[in-house]
Amino acid sequence: DPRIHGIQTKIRVVPDFPREGIMFQDITTHCIEARGFIFGPPIALAIGAKFVPLRKPKKLPGEVIKEEYVLEYGSDCLEMHVGAVHSGERALVVDDLIATGGTLRAAMNLLERVGAEVVECACVIELPDLKGRERLNGKPLYVLVESH
Ligand code: IMP
Repeated sequence: DPRIHGIQTKIRVVPDFPREGIMFQDITTHCIEARGFIFGPPIALAIGAKFVPLRKPKKLPGEVIKEEYVLEYGSDCLEMHVGAVHSGERALVVDDLIATGGTLRAAMNLLERVGAEVVECACVIELPDLKGRERLNGKPLYVLVESH
């Protein structure tokens, strides 16, 4: 698919960001907090699903459930609004990039805690050397490009 090459050429590698030794795969020259939100909403529109943001702490105004996780660089926490997803609903988890898989794993945990079924995960970029895919409990992971 020639479009994949187009995506690959638009990924900028920023060395030593956010700390020394990390080769940061930059999909945007604009600095926004939530890169996954660029891709989630158009996919939701295309498949006729609702979009539910999972956010860093203290961003969501309502009551939340939280899931702590370990990142490639440090630890973090994801939050989801209580009532955003109901038991029995099917979910596709979308993010810009999978590194260690900790973020997708935390997202899956949040969804499974409220009784949703995670059907699949999808990312633009996979860093396969970090084996994040192995942390997804056998759930399918769809990626467009791999980066080493
Ligand atoms: P993981 O939890 O280790 O899989 O890291 C993936 C999460 O960290 C995603 O939400 C990414 O947005 C972010 N991330 C980690 N490394 C990079 C990178 O090199 N480029 C862009 N985002 C990254």
